[in-house]
Amino acid sequence: MKNAAIIGFGCAGYHAAKALREKCPACDIHVYSNTHEAPANPMLTTYYVAGKLPRSGVFPLGTKEEIVSSLNIRLHEDTPVKRVLAEKRAVVLEDGTETVYDEIILASGSHPFMPPIKGLPKRNVYVMRTVDDADLLLNAIHGGISSALVIGASWVGIKVVEALAAHQVPTTMADMAPRIFPTAILPDVADVIHARLEAKGISLLFGRGIDSMEEQEDGIVCRFSDGTSIKTQIVALCLGLRPSISYLDPAEIKINRGVVVDMKMRTSVPHIYAVGDCCEAKEIIHDQYVVVNLWANAVRQGTVAGSNAAGGDESFQGNFTHNITHFLGMDFIGIGDNRAQGDILAYESPSGDVMFRAIIENGKIACINILDNYKISGVLKNYMIKRVLGSDEPFDDKSRVRIMEDPLGRALVDLLETSAASDI
Ligand SMILES: Cc1cc2nc3c(=O)[nH]c(=O)nc-3n(C[C@H](O)[C@H](O)[C@H](O)COP(=O)(O)OP(=O)(O)OC[C@H]3O[C@@H](n4cnc5c(N)ncnc54)[C@H](O)[C@@H]3O)c2cc1C
Repeated sequence: MKNAAIIGFGCAGYHAAKALREKCPACDIHVYSNTHEAPANPMLTTYYVAGKLPRSGVFPLGTKEEIVSSLNIRLHEDTPVKRVLAEKRAVVLEDGTETVYDEIILASGSHPFMPPIKGLPKRNVYVMRTVDDADLLLNAIHGGISSALVIGASWVGIKVVEALAAHQVPTTMADMAPRIFPTAILPDVADVIHARLEAKGISLLFGRGIDSMEEQEDGIVCRFSDGTSIKTQIVALCLGLRPSISYLDPAEIKINRGVVVDMKMRTSVPHIYAVGDCCEAKEIIHDQYVVVNLWANAVRQGTVAGSNAAGGDESFQGNFTHNITHFLGMDFIGIGDNRAQGDILAYESPSGDVMFRAIIENGKIACINILDNYKISGVLKNYMIKRVLGSDEPFDDKSRVRIMEDPLGRALVDLLETSAASDI
């Protein structure tokens, strides 16, 4: 390989460049970025808005200059890729420049979904993904906001609620789903979180979709499908993400919801790879390929593609959705998929401040909810991955010590040992 192009300079693009450089000290690596910033961690944007991090803290991988120098890459900043001609392996820019590469890695991430809402105003409507999005919301907050409506009770939505609460902005969260974190949470855990949010002054409107919006002189009226409405000064739309792949032609390269890849991160076109939020990754609980937006996936997939593009033979073993979310003084850990069918194991700490739920599907843990104990979630997740991938091995010694040190962990061992789920 003489040269390679990476499209996108986020987490996945950075790790692809790093792996490429490690395997190929002499090749030309061109990175195309539609911003002029260093790779950002999107999950830190809300901490910046909340005032818990300086703006520079959103760029954990280093400054642009440090990265360009240490990886010896050619960074084309503020240079969005307009088209990739897959058959020719050519990258086309807005000015029509066309460059052919030996290898191309697509790492263009995703962007917030903007639904076609009737009357959606052009002003005072925010999303949260990039540092620019965070700047815009923070500017609005500094300008003074009397009320906010966050639409979407998602992982992103709750972090935006928290950031607004940090500035004492009266906030309502709405979703057409009946509860927060609709794809991860079990109903009784949600009930506890809802009660705590309401006690902190957050208003909740669940079970109703947005029907239309109307901009008025003193705010935005949002009308819901059940006929109710509220007036708010700003709206934050946190309704999920869509892969940023408009520069690809689905007639040339296979795309479902994201770019389709195999475990080597290869697309349907030889010498073109896709990584991070723009591709469909392997989800191992239900053995399917879906878009799983996780930082850890972007790290591993970028590394695999970078290495393979340079002649390596690495694989991405797959993952499943898991989130450890700290918000408004609580921690919710959701691992796996709450649509799993099976017996539910339940545990409450004697003091009532820690909850644990697990769904056991076909003898394996398919979904875990933990409220207010994040310490053992990593160990449990790794254990789940092994089991889902077919290992019958119990916890290793280190993990067992970690689990047994924790009061919740000890209770879980008792619980799991009496269920069909475990041979701990
Ligand atoms: C608020 C929030 C909270 C989150 N919380 C968590 C969490 O708790 N845990 C977790 O694991 N994950 C979390 N995530 C998800 C995680 O941040 C992403 O999965 C991860 O950052 C994806 O990295 P990426 O490199 O694929 O995409 P990105 O970081 O989006 O990088 C893609 C880059 O490509 C650029 N680009 C796009 N199109 C083009 C083009 N045509 N030409 C050139 N450049 C282009 C984009 O501007 C961007 O800079 C969160 C995300 C958000 C927004």
